[in-house]
Amino acid sequence: MSAPNIETIVSLSKRRGFVYPASEIYGGLGSSWDYGPLGVELANNIKKSWWNWLVYERDDIEGIDSSILQNRLVWKYSGHEDTFSDPLVDCRECKSRLRQDKLDQDAEGKYVCSNCGSTDLTDPRPFNLMFRTTIGAVSDDDDPMALAYLRPETAQGIFANFANVLNTSRRKLPFGIAQIGKAFRNEVTPGNFIFRTREFEQMELEYFVKPDEAAGAHQDWIDGFDEWIRSLGISGENLKHYEQSKHELAHYAERTVDILYRFFPEREDEEKQWDELMGIANRTDYDLRVHSKKPEDADGKRINPDSTEDLSYFDTATNERFYPYIIEPSVGVNRTLLAVMMDAYTERTNDKGETRVIMKLTPQLAPIKVAVLPLAKNKPEIVEMARRLKKDLQPSMRAIYDDTGGIGKLYARQDEIGTPFCVTVDHESLEDNAVTVRHRDTWEQERISAEQLKGFLQEKLDV
Ligand code: ATP
Repeated sequence: MSAPNIETIVSLSKRRGFVYPASEIYGGLGSSWDYGPLGVELANNIKKSWWNWLVYERDDIEGIDSSILQNRLVWKYSGHEDTFSDPLVDCRECKSRLRQDKLDQDAEGKYVCSNCGSTDLTDPRPFNLMFRTTIGAVSDDDDPMALAYLRPETAQGIFANFANVLNTSRRKLPFGIAQIGKAFRNEVTPGNFIFRTREFEQMELEYFVKPDEAAGAHQDWIDGFDEWIRSLGISGENLKHYEQSKHELAHYAERTVDILYRFFPEREDEEKQWDELMGIANRTDYDLRVHSKKPEDADGKRINPDSTEDLSYFDTATNERFYPYIIEPSVGVNRTLLAVMMDAYTERTNDKGETRVIMKLTPQLAPIKVAVLPLAKNKPEIVEMARRLKKDLQPSMRAIYDDTGGIGKLYARQDEIGTPFCVTVDHESLEDNAVTVRHRDTWEQERISAEQLKGFLQEKLDV
């Protein structure tokens, strides 16, 4: 089972402290969201999983953290100033502002307003998605010398540092550079909770390869990311691959495969249930070429007269110099978090006929790994033992102590936030120095000696 719709996750998130509407006390700000105590843990655990898998477990990837503000020329030569735009149309009927490429077409091929169904739409005009800002104490907001952008993707910071990383890490192809960071896009139609927002976080890998090895490496990364997504607990029946057609491909891409998640299971039309979780592109040698000082056009003019660096690679084995091809798996932290929460959502009826929510998060992703609960909070010895056990577990796993309700309520509360284990200290614990461990997914309980508790949990949680 998974969540019936995104709304279910919106209300759970607000109720339990995963995600809140931003600036809510001032009426909010369209499509901005804040991550609460549990949301920030879940997001951090997703990022940790990605980083560990790529940077720690493999031998061919380095990490970096580049600046959100870059020299404007980065965005000029990457092509973003000219082409990073969406086709904007207005509906003359209901005045909605829409992205033409996301609209359905009627039998005559006319675009249909997703709000009122009218086909009376304006012609499309390009709307650049980059947020503009000014740098320094300028008096004129339009001063072109002061103009800067908030990065709309993290990737360009990697390309601009290609030679730095290559020279300082002494890498040989194939190798990759990984980065996690915020990106900003002035989206025309943000929405669906954290699915599409104007501020979001990306995890991007740029993997540099010899041109003739690009197609194989691309397929390997498609397979690798499919597996990584499943390792987050997302079930295969809610995932599928989408091969971009020739006319959908970015002009520099040779092949792009998107991994889709069933974000909209409530939609009747099966085709419309799916949307992009991540994209994996073969970007050819476009990026390193456009940022290099050397390449010339047909008339012998430098394509990039501003760059001071040549980002080509010299292969000592073949004595050849060339621009590496780039395979780019790019995934949003926020979209992944939404997919993980939707997929973990389960309902179960207890023996009193009450419906309980269980978030079946993997132990690695669960914000809280264990909750230690005293059965009687008016008994100081029980409280003391529970607090001591919690303190003992805390350095090796996120543990909490909770005595603010009856045991049934405390269990339900932990199930709803995905805590894999609850540990209960009762009257007998004072006699036999043992505790009850309750498993979230089965509600089964077992008795474990207090001495063995930490080892038992570490093994089960793999921490
Ligand atoms: P779309 O066509 O849906 O606007 P895109 O194909 O332009 O998205 P990419 O540029 O490939 O998206 O971005 C890579 C990943 O970053 C996406 O797969 C998604 O996970 C995430 N992402 C992109 N835009 C947003 C956004 N506005 N809000 C949240 N996540 C985003």
